[in-house]
Amino acid sequence: MYLSIWFGIMVSTQSGCSIPGKSAPPPYAGQIQAPATVAVAPPPSAPAQPRPNPMARRLNEPTNMPSVPPAGARLSYSSIQTDQMVTAMTFDDGPHPSNTPRLLKILRDRNIKGTFFLVGKNAKAYPALVRQIIAEGHEIGNHTWTHGSLTSMSDDQIRKELKMSADAVYEAAGYRPQTIRPPYGAVNARVKDLIFTEFGYPTIMWSVDPQDWRRPGVSVVTSRLVNGVRPGSILLVHDIHAPTIDAMPGTLDQILAKGYRFVTVSQLMNIEKASMPVGVLVRPANVVGADPEPLPQ
Ligand SMILES: [Zn+2]
Repeated sequence: MYLSIWFGIMVSTQSGCSIPGKSAPPPYAGQIQAPATVAVAPPPSAPAQPRPNPMARRLNEPTNMPSVPPAGARLSYSSIQTDQMVTAMTFDDGPHPSNTPRLLKILRDRNIKGTFFLVGKNAKAYPALVRQIIAEGHEIGNHTWTHGSLTSMSDDQIRKELKMSADAVYEAAGYRPQTIRPPYGAVNARVKDLIFTEFGYPTIMWSVDPQDWRRPGVSVVTSRLVNGVRPGSILLVHDIHAPTIDAMPGTLDQILAKGYRFVTVSQLMNIEKASMPVGVLVRPANVVGADPEPLPQ
């Protein structure tokens, strides 16, 4: 309603001013003049330009969201609570020049997306593999630069290990890791707090470990994983060992046959966050640069 009134005033004012050769007579003393300013000032409640809303802008622009995860986010995960038949395969210590490409083909053939916790030095040595992992829709997490035990490092050493590793992945693929797996699972409150506060990484542990690095044999690795998987499990293997890769086709097919769907670690965390009460802000995966394909949701 106010808009139409205001519009009418605007039209009449403008048409009055646009008549050529006709000028209003000069006012004389004592004349009550029409308050000219009334015509040009909008009524108090007329719709004005929307005020900038910093919160809305931030929500609409996910890259502007705070890097520190919000209250309610967990510092570490070894699995999630869910009824959904979902699980996350995680592959540590690569990339490896022959085993990782073989694994990628096995995953590609089954349209399975996994999470690779790369050692920074290996990422630096094999940048094409880092790019391929991202291009094929997998996720990359930080597994430190040298694969040292974080609990025996100073805060500054931890910062350096994580930054160098993240930088190597970024230089290779334009992608910054959003999670960490501590080598050997060595972690304590100091390490977790530092990583969470300064890097925004949740610490990703696991719920099923077939100890494939001990090379127990293909069938043992497979049976440990297939028998251990539960809804929300995080499964741990290492893609630097050839027998582990040999075990993957049978393992993945049997887990699929049980009705599970494979998701990345971030997707798994988002499944849990999606069941949180309304108002808990979910921090999105942050892909830097335009180069890599976004992760499928
Ligand atoms: Zn490792």
